[in-house]
Amino acid sequence: MTLDMSFFEEMEARIPKGQVRTRFAPSPTGYMHVGNLRTALYTWLIARKAGGTFIFRLEDTDQNRLVEGATEVIYKTMAECGLTHDEGPDVGGPVGPYIQSQRRELYSKYAHLLVNKGAAYCCFCEKCASEEDSGTFDRAEDPCRNLSTLTQASHLADGKPYVIRQRIPRTGTTTFHDVSFGDITVENSTLDDQVLLKRDGLPTYNFANVVDDHLMGITHVVRGSEYLSSAPKYNLLYEAFGWEIPTYVHCSPVMRDQQHKMSKRHGDPSYEDLIQQGYLTAAVLNYVALLGWAPKGDRAEQEIFSLEELVEAFDISGISKSPAIFDLAKLDYFNATYLRALPPEEFARAAEPYIRQTVKNPAIDTAAVAALLQARCEKLTEIPEKVDFFDQLPEYGVEYFTNKKSKTNPEVSREMLTAVLPALEGAAEWTLDTVHDTLIALAESLGVKNATLMWPVRIAVAGKLVTPGGAVELCHILGREETLRRLRLGLAKLG
Ligand code: GLU
Repeated sequence: MTLDMSFFEEMEARIPKGQVRTRFAPSPTGYMHVGNLRTALYTWLIARKAGGTFIFRLEDTDQNRLVEGATEVIYKTMAECGLTHDEGPDVGGPVGPYIQSQRRELYSKYAHLLVNKGAAYCCFCEKCASEEDSGTFDRAEDPCRNLSTLTQASHLADGKPYVIRQRIPRTGTTTFHDVSFGDITVENSTLDDQVLLKRDGLPTYNFANVVDDHLMGITHVVRGSEYLSSAPKYNLLYEAFGWEIPTYVHCSPVMRDQQHKMSKRHGDPSYEDLIQQGYLTAAVLNYVALLGWAPKGDRAEQEIFSLEELVEAFDISGISKSPAIFDLAKLDYFNATYLRALPPEEFARAAEPYIRQTVKNPAIDTAAVAALLQARCEKLTEIPEKVDFFDQLPEYGVEYFTNKKSKTNPEVSREMLTAVLPALEGAAEWTLDTVHDTLIALAESLGVKNATLMWPVRIAVAGKLVTPGGAVELCHILGREETLRRLRLGLAKLG
């Protein structure tokens, strides 16, 4: 096949040089799992740290595995996380198109270029992959590997279908370097003549990623360690083309426990699931950053990182090759820290929909409820259950009125509530301060500890042992009418 060499020269000329360029290259084959998010984050951080360029590339050559809506989920996740890209299908760029299925022609040209260079060959055999996998077919003996140029040309002229395979040297070794795994050397005889271009003219992932990473000027490739075993074959491709090999960073899988990788099939959460479960994006990102990467130097002990801080602190040398275990309890801790650190208005905004799941009464001020919750919740999803009593006083038993520390029991509580009712009925206005001052003054005049008075009030107005906020805050939020009604019910319960 004659090739137009000027095409390759033009493609070379388009490649931006002299800058760090990284890419996130998801396949739209499912949801955005935690490992994907981590890869996206690390690649983004490498680019941002170096003032380089971050590229989004869609790897959709495996048409059988495409999942509808997956691309949208990926875009949405990236945007929500603030992982903005400089080049990609939606924003364009100098080395597009950025969707592999739109680059079809190009892979075919590069595959044929490799054939011309002798590093690949057209294979007309009908041998199927399963035969190769089972070892019943020895690729080393493949007659197509050694077809004469003439026979090959005649098969092509006859329109015989073919795949293009990489011609792996049968002897010698190939060594590649990975940032966290170091130098890895393999015997070439253990590598198979992998298919680069399929019968339908579409490339395999193994070929497309090399061509694209080169043509897009990618300097650092971050991906899952499942690709480690293919890396020597990629290197042989780079070498055959005469291209510079990028820096490889293979990340070990994110595990559910010592033995198992996280997997959707086993119910492990995706990014979207985590958000639905009440985690904040910033907390998830922070936690995911530390799954397999550790800061060094001054920041070695630091755990809480904003995205900007991560950009400053990130260094690929901190990426570990040991698999990280995804620990929800640890994520809870990060989330609680983030919730506490939010400005109160922002927390109130985030909490409102959760409060409104159980608190339908429009008279209840959700911002006031949120203020009680901010220091007391790890996840937003805990909120509905914590505040349900504002709408409906739950059924509760008189035993709730007994509390050793507050020195209360049903009898004492009856006494307290009997005194509290007229005092609150007579309060001039219903502010936090008046409720507070009225109750404190009453405790003093009765000569009891504040807690002895507050305990029965809180139980009567909430009907729960544990509440966000104390008696004063709860009475204030409930309003005078409802508070008095509940206090009377409490008193009636006490007989
Ligand atoms: N499309 C591949 C994946 O989603 C990308 C691997 C890579 O980054 O090279 O696993």
